[in-house]
Amino acid sequence: MGQGSGARVLIIGAGPAGLVLGNILRAEGIDCVILERRSRSHVEHRARAGFLAANSVRILDQHGLSTGLHEFGRQHDTCAFRGEHGQFELNYSELGRGEIHTVYPQQNLVRDLIATFLNRGGEIRFETPVTSVHPLLETARFVAGADGQHGVAQAAVPGRRYRRDHQVSWLAILAEAPPSMAAVMYAIHPNGFAGHMARTPSVTRYYLQCAPGHDPASLSDDQIWAELSLRMRIDEYGALKQGPIIERRIVDMYSNVLDPIQHGNLFLVGDAASLISPSAAKGANLAIMEADLLGQAMIAALRGDSRALDRYSADCLPRIWRAQEFSHWMINLLHSPPGDSDDATFLRALQRARLESLRTSRAHQDFFAENYIGI
Ligand SMILES: Cc1cc2nc3c(=O)[nH]c(=O)nc-3n(C[C@H](O)[C@H](O)[C@H](O)COP(=O)(O)OP(=O)(O)OC[C@H]3O[C@@H](n4cnc5c(N)ncnc54)[C@H](O)[C@@H]3O)c2cc1C
Repeated sequence: MGQGSGARVLIIGAGPAGLVLGNILRAEGIDCVILERRSRSHVEHRARAGFLAANSVRILDQHGLSTGLHEFGRQHDTCAFRGEHGQFELNYSELGRGEIHTVYPQQNLVRDLIATFLNRGGEIRFETPVTSVHPLLETARFVAGADGQHGVAQAAVPGRRYRRDHQVSWLAILAEAPPSMAAVMYAIHPNGFAGHMARTPSVTRYYLQCAPGHDPASLSDDQIWAELSLRMRIDEYGALKQGPIIERRIVDMYSNVLDPIQHGNLFLVGDAASLISPSAAKGANLAIMEADLLGQAMIAALRGDSRALDRYSADCLPRIWRAQEFSHWMINLLHSPPGDSDDATFLRALQRARLESLRTSRAHQDFFAENYIGI
């Protein structure tokens, strides 16, 4: 087997989940090895999430993992909705619990976490794909499956699998262009949803709802900017700041939850435990929250108290389902079925009513803010 034999904790995957967990364990001097199938350069440049919730920042602060995000991240507190009946903004620092996001690209966080883990004496074996968890389970005291949605660890945990295909896909675009506005923008248009989210002063993420199975290469850069401009209604609100498109990929809106997320000495964390659609920017935040719970529970168990580890799955699942519920609500808020069928027109009318309630009801706005920023 050879992969990390002798380590007390083996972690599969050097994404946010595995790296936060590894850092928490190393801070207590616990011997742990991370096995990662990709190269270091690959994981340090893989652009995905960017919006860290206040609770994630608190966890990273608590474990000494937030220097980079405080130095280079930017505080963010406003999202806006744009549609046929105009635009409104919600400043969530003044709603719900009054919390905000920190915008810090996931690849930068991963880079920081790798550097700190190595400084704390941790070992990462890059380009080491795990093909089966069973040999690892025999050599390590605990194994963490932090290997994402396509990893191998899930299959070794028997239990119930909840899965939903939301029948919605996004073309996710990274543009080398400054953000076009301060707020996160959710634009609702008869052609479909379009989104705008700042990443850094020179890079912006955009989303375009597209048909499932869409070929990401089928649109030219000019066609993408034209469609974004149309759905963002630039005639009414002003032009987008354009630049070269440096990445494009299709993201299908799926939900996937395992129950339980532990079996024997194997524990799932992050996307390996539950996949959530990016419609509410929750995936990386759930991964950090679970890694914190699992890290503390493993430390206690290695010191002789396994109660928290025994209830790890039971502690995580209610929070996972709460995030799934909000993400599902966001999917219904942002997307409506095309066409003129009775069903489609009815659902579009409901969508308008939901947006109107969000625009006008303080109670609805507080509910939104609490769920948007929290887990
Ligand atoms: C376009 C996009 C935008 C997103 N935006 C947001 C956002 O704004 N906010 C948010 O909170 N979330 C967002 N997410 C979700 C977020 O990126 C994920 O939830 C997050 O990466 C999960 O972290 P993880 O560590 O669980 O999994 P991953 O980041 O997927 O890491 C898993 C690691 O395991 C490795 N691995 C896999 N299989 C094996 C194997 N067999 N052996 C060894 N290693 C293996 C992989 O190479 C990878 O490095 C977004 C996702 C996408 C795709």
